Amino acid sequence: MDEFELIDRIFHRPEDRPPWVEVGIGDDGAVLQPPLGKQTVVVMDTLVNGTHFLNSQPADSVGHRALAVNLSDVVAMGASPRWATLSLTLPELDRDWVNAFATGFFQLADEHHVSLIGGDTTAGPLTVSVTVGGEVEPGRVLRRGGARPGDLIFLTGRIGGAATALSSTQAYSNPVLQKALLYPQPPVALGQVLGSFAHSAIDLSDGLLADLGHVLKASGNRGAQIEADQVPLFEASVALLGASRALELALGGGDDYELCFTAPEDRCREIDAIGSQLEREIFCIGRVTEKGGCRVNGGQVNLKELSPGYQHTWQV
Ligand code: ADP
Ligand code: MG
Repeated sequence: MDEFELIDRIFHRPEDRPPWVEVGIGDDGAVLQPPLGKQTVVVMDTLVNGTHFLNSQPADSVGHRALAVNLSDVVAMGASPRWATLSLTLPELDRDWVNAFATGFFQLADEHHVSLIGGDTTAGPLTVSVTVGGEVEPGRVLRRGGARPGDLIFLTGRIGGAATALSSTQAYSNPVLQKALLYPQPPVALGQVLGSFAHSAIDLSDGLLADLGHVLKASGNRGAQIEADQVPLFEASVALLGASRALELALGGGDDYELCFTAPEDRCREIDAIGSQLEREIFCIGRVTEKGGCRVNGGQVNLKELSPGYQHTWQV
């Protein structure tokens, strides 16, 4: 199998092309006819073998995650994902690996009606880079910098599951925790409504405290009060690690790909209703304050021991 066969057999699916994709895979570029009046949000994320995933990670999970980590960014901007491009750098043309990768990628893409419109395939160290484009009504874009003092802070799901799965082989073998790590499910359906009530949003990739910290800083160095007992943990994390360690991993771990958003208190009922409608648990965990950094009330956490979120380091 050469590069062209691989693209044609695995990634080119002309039967799935929506009408607004005028030209898809197969030409030098894709041509889109976006709906009039909508704005486009564009995001990109790269997964490098050895840094963001391991050889032992199932290939369909690599495909799923490569797309999922971009979907959570699009949704955090208050947009709905529509299309993706995929850059694959492969050390060899391993048909089984690529097939499984594509299965994971397309399962998630199909679930959310995201169309793969192009990409690039090259030889080299295993790296997957995905770009996603999303649509948003003008005026509905959500920025990190929109949080206001008094806003309540919400999470779109339980957190700390992925970090717990990474903490031991016993935790990894728990199916719920393993699923949180290998097949995160960002709250895509929220994308089209989030901008109607939220003031700010961010997706959780580096850990709640690190990511919420970005929101607070961008919003004019605001503070936050988090109620430890309101932070939604995975039952399995608590059972395996105890409540304190589970909370530490929820606050300082990462790879959750849920959203953290802030909204005014008077939208609480609406947010509850939307959560039930979308069958997504939405949790209120605290409040934005004028200033004072991010404080966690209650809970036996040692904030000093929390990992400050994952940061890449290069050796030059
Ligand atoms: P060019 O040489 O003009 O850059 P390529 O041979 O790289 O074209 O790609 C041919 C077509 O296949 C293009 O439409 C490109 O978008 C698509 N393509 C290449 N690799 C991938 C991939 N991994 N996933 C999806 N589409 C791809
Ligand atoms: Mg090319």
